[in-house]
Formats: sequence, structure tokens, C-alpha cells
Amino acid sequence: MSWTGVNERTFIAVKPDGVQRRRVGEIVQRFEKKGFKLVGFKLMQASKELLREHYWEHRNRPFYNKLVSYMSSGPVVAMVWQGLDVVKTGRKMMGQTNPTNSLPGTFRGDFCVIMGKNVIHGSDSVESAQREISLWFKESELCEREGCSAKWIYE
Ligand code: ADP
Repeated sequence: MSWTGVNERTFIAVKPDGVQRRRVGEIVQRFEKKGFKLVGFKLMQASKELLREHYWEHRNRPFYNKLVSYMSSGPVVAMVWQGLDVVKTGRKMMGQTNPTNSLPGTFRGDFCVIMGKNVIHGSDSVESAQREISLWFKESELCEREGCSAKWIYE
């Protein structure tokens, strides 16, 4: 299936601090309320190997090892959301990397204070989303389904 238009997908993860601080419900709720469709969801302990690969582009940054430790410090909720412009809109809902620069109303603006514990991950492009979804999910874990409310969300 081509992941374009209303079939665009993004990878969203509630990071270990978000899970421990019980933000999963509200994050899921805001994506649902917006009109996006949940097609993948699991609570899991991510291995350091998976996380090193996920954050490969940051491998030479000074915070890389700390980031991998943080992300493996507890379970994460890995999700795939689908809908028109979901990658870009998901990033807007998240806020900036640094919570200090994130507006109220965004997850990072509302739920956290520092970059090293910023509650949520979201793919930054359609290409990253494809890479991340295939890294975190098997094809069989994604549920293709007709959303019954699609006609009330799209023209
Ligand atoms: P984003 O998650 O907003 O896409 P990046 O891909 O740039 O941001 O960075 C990945 C994650 O690495 C951030 O969400 C944050 O948890 C962490 N991070 C980024 N920059 C720093 C930094 N300077 N110090 C500590 N942690 C950082």
C-alpha cells in the first residue's frame, strides 16, 4: 500500500518518562480527537540495539549514549498513526525538541521541562516514518482497517 494522502503514516513513541508519568492515555486521546487512525500499538521494553539503530543519525553526538540509556530505562509505547499529513501534524502536536521552546498545547510544552526527558518521539519526515515503522513493527502487527468515521473527517 502506498503511504500517501490519507494513508500517510507516522511512528510515535511515548518515551519511558511519559509512560512512568502516565501520559499515554492523553497522548492517544489527542491523536484520536484530531481524527487520526491508530494502526499499530504496543508497550515494550526496547533493546539498546534497536535504540542505537533508531537514533543512528545521532551516533556521533555527545548525548547519544545517554539518549540510548534514557530510552531503554523503562517500557515505551510504540504506535503507528495514519491520516492526511500525519507526519507534519504529529510534529506540531509534539512541540520542539527542547520543551523550553515548545508552546503550551503541545505535548512537550505541557508535559516536560528538559530535552533529556521530553516524553514523546515522532518521525520528522515521511521517509523517517517508513524507516522507523519497519524497524519497530512487523507488517503483521499493523492493522489495515476501514475507519468508520472517515467520511466525517475527509471530503
Ligand atoms: P526530536 O526528538 O525532536 O526529533 P532529535 O531527533 O534532534 O529531536 O533528537 C532526538 C532526541 O535526542 C530528542 O528528542 C532528545 O530526547 C534528545 N536530544 C536531542 N538533543 C539533545 C541535547 N542537546 N541534549 C540532550 N538530549 C538531546
